[in-house]
Amino acid sequence: MQVIIPQKMGFCFGVKRALKLVKDEAKKDKEVYTLGDLIHNPQVVEELKKEGIKPIADLSQVKKGTIVIRAHGVDPSLKEKAVKKGLKVVDATCPYVLKVQKIAELISQKSYKIIVVGTASHPEIIGVTAKINKGKFYVIRTPQEVQKLPFIKKMGVIVQTTESLDNFRNIVKDLIKKSEECRVFNTICEVIKQRQEDAENLSAEVEAMIVVGGHNSSNTYQLVKLCRNIGVKTYFIEKEDDLSLTEEKYKNFNKVGIIGGTSTPKEVLKRVKEKLLSI
Ligand code: SF4
Repeated sequence: MQVIIPQKMGFCFGVKRALKLVKDEAKKDKEVYTLGDLIHNPQVVEELKKEGIKPIADLSQVKKGTIVIRAHGVDPSLKEKAVKKGLKVVDATCPYVLKVQKIAELISQKSYKIIVVGTASHPEIIGVTAKINKGKFYVIRTPQEVQKLPFIKKMGVIVQTTESLDNFRNIVKDLIKKSEECRVFNTICEVIKQRQEDAENLSAEVEAMIVVGGHNSSNTYQLVKLCRNIGVKTYFIEKEDDLSLTEEKYKNFNKVGIIGGTSTPKEVLKRVKEKLLSI
């Protein structure tokens, strides 16, 4: 069996930066917490816990120490609340996510109604929409949802950094028909675009794709969807151990591709490859 992993895998810039910031803080303070999971990878979050860095769901869970803001960002009011509580706040929000927040803030001040393409419950979108006045935005995910929107004279469009480029393109095509003026900001992260391109190219030359990453990771899930849409047999796993339950089915493939999300460590991909070759 031939197993292919594209060249540029492993953590993206934003994830590396967030991990460095949190680990640096852990050297200075014994009580370091992350507001929610720092990144969407359960195995990495478990490793951090072993180093004493714990995720909390709510600020009421801590009285003192350092709070690190996750890579996807948070509602800015939470940051203020933490500062008021006397906690040290370290912001590990990815600069690309901060850029989306900034664009949202600026165009909403210029009387545009904003269409946010993404998942409303995702932390990034919660943080981004917190920057826009209530009633001045819609969050949508599908071209079908565009049909339900009213006609909007001045429309500003932004997109979750991890969204699929194809889906965004389809939505924008329909949005243009729903407005007189439509300003589109393609805020999909460059690393994500590259990862989607890698998944697309690899899917075209293998019999099966194994996508590795947190089941809660939006960008990993987008890779899964992309591979499935292409029509290649696709498996979504978090780690090499997930292969063992289903090993029989892998035996029939001659050429398999492995790709990981931007919060999947490179080493995990290598271990998946080794395990696959040993089957
Ligand atoms: S995927 Fe892009 S936007 Fe998200 S954390 Fe990584 S670099 Fe930042």
